[in-house]
Amino acid sequence: MTMETVDLRSDTVTRPTPAMRRAMAVAEVGDDLFGEDPTVRALEDRLAGLFGFGAALFVPSGVMANQIALRLLVAPGQEIVCDADAHILAHEEGSPARYGGIQTRTVRGERGLLGVEALEGALRPGNAYTVGTRAVALEQTHTRAGGTVYPLETLRAVRRLTDRAGISVHIDGARVWNAHTATGTPLREYGSPVADTLSVCLSKGLGAPVGSVLLTAAEHLPRARSLRHGLGGGMRQSGILAAAGLHALDHHLERMADDHAHAALLAAELRDAGCAVRPQETNVVLVDAPGAEEVVAGAAREGVLVTAPGPGVVRIVTHLGVGRQACRRAAGVLAALMGEGRRTGGGSAAAERAQQWKESEVA
Ligand SMILES: *Cc1c(COP(=O)(O)O)cnc(C)c1O
Repeated sequence: MTMETVDLRSDTVTRPTPAMRRAMAVAEVGDDLFGEDPTVRALEDRLAGLFGFGAALFVPSGVMANQIALRLLVAPGQEIVCDADAHILAHEEGSPARYGGIQTRTVRGERGLLGVEALEGALRPGNAYTVGTRAVALEQTHTRAGGTVYPLETLRAVRRLTDRAGISVHIDGARVWNAHTATGTPLREYGSPVADTLSVCLSKGLGAPVGSVLLTAAEHLPRARSLRHGLGGGMRQSGILAAAGLHALDHHLERMADDHAHAALLAAELRDAGCAVRPQETNVVLVDAPGAEEVVAGAAREGVLVTAPGPGVVRIVTHLGVGRQACRRAAGVLAALMGEGRRTGGGSAAAERAQQWKESEVA
């Protein structure tokens, strides 16, 4: 019997479905740098409408969407404030500093989330000799904190604070879809009422192969297009890719509730096995496990792929490519490695086990 691999490393590993590929194949296209790709336009218009913004820009990646947004809002030598574990800091190659000349100041959020209390003391007005804070950057849901959801009330309170301070808000909404799915909050509420710029990913839980969209006010669009071009993100017949995004909005948004149910199932089974599972809110499950690297290696040997995003933490992410049965099997494998009756863990037992694996590989 062949064992099917269960890939729970990230919701980026999804492959386009046959129906999505068909939608891509028949997409009407034109040269988007001339503004002539009708499918790109349709995607941009649809997302601008969904989130209540005046303009949208289709870009190749979430990193690019975030970096264009920050440069729209913040000039070189000015400052953003964000959570200490934000994606824009941890996973974007230092781009705010590198390309935007933007200084970053961090505040440690509560499970990644920054409220008014945390931010209030951090914002500086700036003057002739003090760097001024120009924007606050938030992440919805917060990836490294385990897919945590910003409560709408917190976003509204932050918006009131930044309005009073006369500064902007960027939301990295790569997984805003998951926040919407978890809370039922309309997408629009997570958009223009609480943010000046919002980036959303089509290639995470929505399951498109490529693409993110930057949402902002209409007046920012010419500069956003210029920044995209300067970063090498200008695309031509990109309607082929935008078609995948449109298809995903039609067919993959509602089903995201399944991903959350599967994550809840994994969390419950691992908890039952005695694992130290952190609170699970969306499609990400974090488990505190000494010897996380060995857990990742041990699971992989049984065809279950997960990651260790930090020391002593195992991360599991559900998505449309993994069904309920596969999640059950993954839970069994992971429970055996991390649960109370585990075969491996931290310390020397794990090292011994790792050594045995190495030897068996040689053999
Ligand atoms: C995935 C992700 C991004 C962007 O990633 P790309 O790989 O560039 O598309 C940005 N922010 C968060 C929180 C993400 O999870």
